[in-house]
Amino acid sequence: MNTLVVGPAWVGDMVLAQPLVATLAAAGATVHMLAPPATAPVAERMPGVDAVHRLNVPHGRLGLAERRRVGRSLRAHRFEQAFVLPNTFKSALAPWFARVPRRTGWLGEHRYGVLNDARRLDPGRYPRLVERYAALAGGPCPTPELRADARSLALTRERLRLGDARPVVALCPGAAFGPAKRWPVGHFAEVAGACVQDGKAVWLFGSAEEQPLCDDIAARVPGAVGLAGRTDLVTAIDLLSAAACVVANDSGLMHVAAALGRPVIALFGSTSPDFTPPLGDRAVILREPQPCSPCFQRTCPLGHLRCLVDLPPARVLGEIAACMSY
Ligand code: SF4
Repeated sequence: MNTLVVGPAWVGDMVLAQPLVATLAAAGATVHMLAPPATAPVAERMPGVDAVHRLNVPHGRLGLAERRRVGRSLRAHRFEQAFVLPNTFKSALAPWFARVPRRTGWLGEHRYGVLNDARRLDPGRYPRLVERYAALAGGPCPTPELRADARSLALTRERLRLGDARPVVALCPGAAFGPAKRWPVGHFAEVAGACVQDGKAVWLFGSAEEQPLCDDIAARVPGAVGLAGRTDLVTAIDLLSAAACVVANDSGLMHVAAALGRPVIALFGSTSPDFTPPLGDRAVILREPQPCSPCFQRTCPLGHLRCLVDLPPARVLGEIAACMSY
């Protein structure tokens, strides 16, 4: 069966779409992914995806003309079913324009019509996002998986002069959602400094917007390498696969690292790991629960960010040591 999956616009959510893709592929389906430029690179490293199509509509915009253009261009593939993962009305338009006969998704934003196989979600039955996506195909919910490209990794290490043999600790200090998810820069710098002192290579990952954050930490810690702004997402995925251990805020890169099978130390602040935890048996979740947590705010409404400030670097360093001796 020829299937189209309309992927989410957040990196972490896109990683959580992989079990759905795996279920479809295991049933013999051809799987094409339609995704915005922000998350299409994740689909390029996703086992089970046969082709990736890009939808160039900025986040939050309707982009009707572009959705119509892309939808019409997809008609040639004669998809039999589309799975629309975002809950918005507009995300279901491209498969409708593509004349996909069966358009499946969870009911949201009154999508009757653009979806003709709309399901009503029982949140109690599927509490986690990954389960909600996988349930659309009616199959099991395996652990998300991404695959790095070994040749691309080797070329990137050579280009960025990252070829030494020291074990790599990857730090991901950003979180697109907002500062209430970001462990303090000083804490990351303390961990980076201790790791460099201990003979480990420290690589700092982030998006182009997070480059100042990563460069700030790199400037405080001689020897740490800031990669934000020097790598695109697909390159970052390949490089993360080389890490012996990854320390990440609750962010897209946290899910990427877990799906690559890397040991992940996940730091949670204003959010809860109940809905979108890092998946994989090598992930450790660290939290410093407060009476106010989780508040799910982008910035701390109390102004002190105690849920993250009070999470000490020594705890993270202890988990890194445990990772290294695993
Ligand atoms: S209100 Fe509490 S949970 Fe929310 S960000 Fe501030 S300290 Fe963290």
